[in-house]
Amino acid sequence: MDLRYTAAQDSFRAEVRAWLEANVPAEPLASFDTLEGSLAHRRWEAKLHAGGFAMVPWPVEYGGRGADLLEWLIFEEEYYRAGAPRRINQNGIFLLGPTLMEFGTPEQKARFLPKMASSEEVWAQGWSEPNAGSDMAAIQTTALRDGDHFVLRGQKTWASRGAFADWLFGLFRTDPDSERHKGLTFLLVPLDAPGVTVRPIAQLDGETGFAEVFFDDARVPVANRLGPEGEGWKVAMATAGFERGLMLRSPARFQDTAQRLVALYRENEASADPLLREAVLRCWVEAEAYTLETYRTVSRLLSGGKIGAEASLNKIFWSELDLRMHETALRILGPRAELLPEAPAARGVGDWLDGYLFSLSGPIYAGTNEIQRNVIAERILGLPRE
Ligand SMILES: Cc1cc2nc3c(=O)[nH]c(=O)nc-3n(C[C@H](O)[C@H](O)[C@H](O)COP(=O)(O)OP(=O)(O)OC[C@H]3O[C@@H](n4cnc5c(N)ncnc54)[C@H](O)[C@@H]3O)c2cc1C
Repeated sequence: MDLRYTAAQDSFRAEVRAWLEANVPAEPLASFDTLEGSLAHRRWEAKLHAGGFAMVPWPVEYGGRGADLLEWLIFEEEYYRAGAPRRINQNGIFLLGPTLMEFGTPEQKARFLPKMASSEEVWAQGWSEPNAGSDMAAIQTTALRDGDHFVLRGQKTWASRGAFADWLFGLFRTDPDSERHKGLTFLLVPLDAPGVTVRPIAQLDGETGFAEVFFDDARVPVANRLGPEGEGWKVAMATAGFERGLMLRSPARFQDTAQRLVALYRENEASADPLLREAVLRCWVEAEAYTLETYRTVSRLLSGGKIGAEASLNKIFWSELDLRMHETALRILGPRAELLPEAPAARGVGDWLDGYLFSLSGPIYAGTNEIQRNVIAERILGLPRE
């Protein structure tokens, strides 16, 4: 095994670094879960796209640059190193995009991928319903066939970025007599269609990116069906694999947090509990371990492998690591951690509290960690089903 980068990879890294250094906004953008921030993030995405860096591993015809997954990891390392804005269209580019590549017709790919790459169209995902969270097979929202349309009725909830998105993808029950995983179909739904109502949900931090989405006989063309009718579960599981397994949380995100944590410890070494040194070290080592594991997964995928149930292991690892890193930062900061960054006594507390609040949701979104443990027990360890 040769763990060195090739000359071509080094030169790709240099190109990405130079572009980001010249273009990343000097001041952080407002959160993409606010109206102002969502517009600023769309402008940033348009710039990234014009620079040719919106989604490097995608084919050129769809707005990418035909890079391989190793180059994508390099891009991500540089992206976080540069402190570039978070990706507002992550539901689209990291989750639906790869699903469309696998299950979409040529017409669907040509219609949706380029505007996804440029974030001209921002996507929300619609799995959860008031009575279907962990138990996603309990989905009740129906999409009944009427000629060359589906007529949607019901409600989705917890759609991240739903308040500012243009489209929603998700699972709908197309066979009203079906049960559980059967009779579900994966649909692409324009959020401005008549009969669709998007209601923002106020978050703990006052932002309003989350949304519930109501369907009152909204009509969606059959051409917006991804994969065969009634077989949406299989398509959705591929999307979930991308979410848990590779794309949504690249290792660079956690390496960046680990490095900031080390810097925070160094700045506060005089006052911090010396026992925290070990906790910081452990976080850093685990972020490196996650990186190496991801490189291993990418090598496997490049040799034709598929992401399987081990995506669940991955999801537990990154979400718990993220939480541990933020908890450690709060312990280093002590009571100061509760101050807002702009408070006079804050002295550089940064965004650790904000990050901590978000990290608390990591074990919940993308399928709770309890459910991932069930998947590991049943599908990797072969234990009896619950
Ligand atoms: C930040 C964030 C972003 C999200 N974004 C989206 C989004 O964009 N689109 C979307 O559709 N949804 C989204 N969700 C919703 C998320 O997918 C659900 O919250 C999650 O699947 C859990 O469902 P629930 O909230 O209904 O909890 P429940 O399913 O009611 O679970 C409650 C508790 O019971 C446990 N539990 C349930 N069943 C079992 C079992 N069989 N074995 C062991 N324990 C079990 C769960 O682990 C959990 O701890 C988001 C959630 C968060 C927090």
